[in-house]
Amino acid sequence: MSNTTISGLPLTRRGVLTAVTAAAAAHTVLRPPPASAARTRNVYDVIVVGAGFAGVTAARALRRKGLQVLILEARNRIGGRTWTTTFEGEQVEMGGVWVDPMQTHVWQEIEHQGVGLVADPAADRTLFPTTTDFGYFSLEEAFGRQGELLTRFCERAPELFPDPTNPLARVDLLRRVDPQTIRDRLNALRLTDLDEKWLTGATGGLGGGSDRGAYTQFLHWWALCNYNADQYYGINTYRPASGMADLAQGILTEAAADLRLNSPVRSITDNGREVTVRTKTGTTYTASSVVVAVPVNVWKTIEFGPALSPQRRRATSETFGVPTAQKLWLRLQTSLGNTYVHTPDGYPVDTLVPIKQLADSQLMVGFSGDQRLDVNNVAQVERAVRLVVPDARVLAVKGQNWGTDPYARGGWSFRRPGQLTGLLNAIQLPQGRISFATSDIASGWSGYVEGAMESGLRAAEQVTRYAIR
Ligand SMILES: Cc1cc2nc3c(=O)[nH]c(=O)nc-3n(C[C@H](O)[C@H](O)[C@H](O)COP(=O)(O)OP(=O)(O)OC[C@H]3O[C@@H](n4cnc5c(N)ncnc54)[C@H](O)[C@@H]3O)c2cc1C
Repeated sequence: MSNTTISGLPLTRRGVLTAVTAAAAAHTVLRPPPASAARTRNVYDVIVVGAGFAGVTAARALRRKGLQVLILEARNRIGGRTWTTTFEGEQVEMGGVWVDPMQTHVWQEIEHQGVGLVADPAADRTLFPTTTDFGYFSLEEAFGRQGELLTRFCERAPELFPDPTNPLARVDLLRRVDPQTIRDRLNALRLTDLDEKWLTGATGGLGGGSDRGAYTQFLHWWALCNYNADQYYGINTYRPASGMADLAQGILTEAAADLRLNSPVRSITDNGREVTVRTKTGTTYTASSVVVAVPVNVWKTIEFGPALSPQRRRATSETFGVPTAQKLWLRLQTSLGNTYVHTPDGYPVDTLVPIKQLADSQLMVGFSGDQRLDVNNVAQVERAVRLVVPDARVLAVKGQNWGTDPYARGGWSFRRPGQLTGLLNAIQLPQGRISFATSDIASGWSGYVEGAMESGLRAAEQVTRYAIR
């Protein structure tokens, strides 16, 4: 296992518990702008729509340029597809949670805020498919064999993604590969039944099923992990101890931008001189420019004037965020111990990760891409888990269906075939005075908080030229 050093502290991937950080950088809260006459008339330099990581990152960057910024957020909380809450008395995350030193923006933010990190407990065995059922395997056996399969699955990644933060560097080669789904690649490998089960367990669910996700998206993530199975497995290890909401709040506090919660935006109109934003409750705001920091899947729910470009319309109708993504927390009476569970395509629960042993039970977190499964129904979840662990007894569940969430309409981003070569460049560009920020359209870690921060910084840069008076 590889070691990483943060501010001089050695961290071992998948260590038991690691509190980090060295002295936090001085935390400068930007002075809130005075309540000018313009602001009391709802006039700003920039309006940011959406207070997920992309939105708060953009807002802080704009405030650092001395601009007056308003954030309009539909929900009654910030954080978007990250959401820190509680389950059975424990702090849990219903969305994005794990961070890694390879993800430089989010990692620097953690150091900057002086946030402690926790490493989730290392699994000590796996429950993986066998030819007929499921069986226990040692970590070495399971991840060693699956790592070899993944390496074979991704063997063209160095050639296709030589510079992972510039994913179109070899667009000439990618044009032929980008139309392929994960299923296409699996079929081309002519795997044994068992190898295919082990590979779909690691790839298919991430993209909303092997038939939905683009093969190039998986290759891109693999490239970001240095084309290395150990680093790929390691990215889901560390989480901020105080929660993702706290990390987002730290950015927001520093930005000291105006924030209106419970303010879903209905329309955004750019007349070439200024942009008017109207909320669903009818309040109108104007600004020199706007950063739209909502998920790609949500673009279609907002009226844009002029209309969105054809590429953006295609992106939002095809979806970027996985529309079937669900996350669930379980308290299980049957103690599996620290067992990591993977199921092949077609199972209602595709991954179970051990999080904490309690006195008489254990906490696990799982993922599902099956919209027929009600992840808040104990009996249904128990039936789903029993397909893998026949004597499982589920005592309590708490789940989040990101696909039916009106302000997400999907989970993490996983591009579909053709979207990298056909759409990404075009949808990263501004449209008049409107720029777009979301992890879904990041050049690097799209599908991660890191990508949200990358895109927020880009959008802030794009709109600045309109906002400087
Ligand atoms: C289950 C799950 C697990 C994940 N695991 C990880 C992980 O371990 N590590 C990791 O790095 N990433 C993970 N991700 C991905 C990560 O959470 C996202 O990529 C990232 O949070 C997206 O940030 P964003 O700002 O682009 O979008 P969002 O977080 O979706 O923010 C968009 C904001 O816009 C608001 N909004 C939407 N519509 C409107 C409107 N009309 N008006 C006003 N506001 C609106 C939303 O309410 C939201 O607050 C996971 C995601 C999910 C769903």
